[in-house]
Amino acid sequence: MRAARLHEYTDDMSEGLAIEEIDRPEITRSDEVIVEVEGAGWCQTDNHIIEGMWEPYVPQPLPMTLGHENAGTVIETGEEVEIVEEGDPVICHPVQTCGTCRACRQGETMYCENDAFNGLTTDGGFADYLLTNERAVIPLPDGVEPIDIAPHADAGITAYHAAKKAVRKLNPGDHAVIVGIGGLGHIGVQVVDAMSAAQITAVDLKDSALELAEEGGADHLVNPEQEDVREFVDSVTDGKGAAQVLDFVGADVTTEYAPDITAAGGDHHIIGYGGHIHEPAQALVNGEFSYVGNIVGQYTELQELVALVEQGDVDLHTSRYDLEEVNTVAEKLEHREIDGRAVITP
Ligand SMILES: [Zn+2]
Ligand SMILES: [Zn+2]
Repeated sequence: MRAARLHEYTDDMSEGLAIEEIDRPEITRSDEVIVEVEGAGWCQTDNHIIEGMWEPYVPQPLPMTLGHENAGTVIETGEEVEIVEEGDPVICHPVQTCGTCRACRQGETMYCENDAFNGLTTDGGFADYLLTNERAVIPLPDGVEPIDIAPHADAGITAYHAAKKAVRKLNPGDHAVIVGIGGLGHIGVQVVDAMSAAQITAVDLKDSALELAEEGGADHLVNPEQEDVREFVDSVTDGKGAAQVLDFVGADVTTEYAPDITAAGGDHHIIGYGGHIHEPAQALVNGEFSYVGNIVGQYTELQELVALVEQGDVDLHTSRYDLEEVNTVAEKLEHREIDGRAVITP
C-alpha cells in the first residue's frame, strides 16, 4: 500500500514526508481493526512532528507514517471485535488505549499508560490502510461520510474538549474569546455557540478566517493587525474581560493576552502550541486566572461531537488533496494558506 512516511526531522516542509510502498498492516490481536482510509486531516501537529518538536515528549520510531485524523471503512476485524464489522464507516480516535490501567478505568483516554497514538507514536492514516482497535473506532451515523468528518478525529475533538471545559464555566452574560480561527478554532467557535449563551469574540490575522468565525456564530471579530485586541476585549466586555479564552495559536504573543483580557477567576486555555508562557506569578495571583492545558479528548467526547455533527450544529470547512500532495499541504499550512482544514484522500 502507499504511505506518506517521515524518515528524519526537518524544518523544510517541502520534503518532510516520502510517499512509499509498504506492507499493508495485519491484524495480530483479537481487538484490532483495519480501516481503509478515506479521509485524513492534515494538522499543524503534523508540521510540528516533522520539525521534531514531539521527539522529547513521546517515543517516535522512524520511519513512521503520519496522519492522526482518520476516518474510513472497516475492511477487517480481529475475532473478538463486536461493535463494527467489514463495510462499516467509522471515525478513528487517534489513541488506542489498553482499557484496564487506572486512567482508562477513570475514562481518561488521553492519560492511558499503555497507549499508541496513530501518526505520533505508531503508523497513522496518510496511507491506504490504518491499523487501530475496537476501543478507538466510533461508528458513523447514516448520512455522515468519513471523508467529511475525518478532521474531527483530532482537530474536532481537541476543540470540543477545550470548548466543553470552557462552556461549563460560561454563564449567560459572560464572554468567550477565541484566538486563531483555523482548523481547530473554526470548530471551537461553533461548539461554544452551540453549547453556551456566551458572547463570542473571534481573533485572527486573516479576514477570511474571521468570516468563517462569523458564519460559525462569533458575535465580534477582531484582526490584531487592524485593532488592539486588549482594547477591543475591554470595550465589548465593559472592562470585565473574557471569562474564558480559547487560544488555538499558543504563540508568545497570544499567551501574553491573558493577564489583560481574561476576567478575574477566568481561564486561558492553551490548545495551539509552539510558544511559551512568560507571565509574572503576580499577574496570576492578582487576576486569579489560570492557564489550562488541553490534549485531544476522551472517546466519549468524540461520540458527543459526532452527535453535534449529526444534528447540524458543527460544519467542517475543508479542502481535499491527494496523498501525493502531502508536502505541498505542509508548506501551505506553514504559510497560513489553508482556510479551515486540509484533508488528504488516500
Ligand atoms: Zn491533529
Ligand atoms: Zn490504559
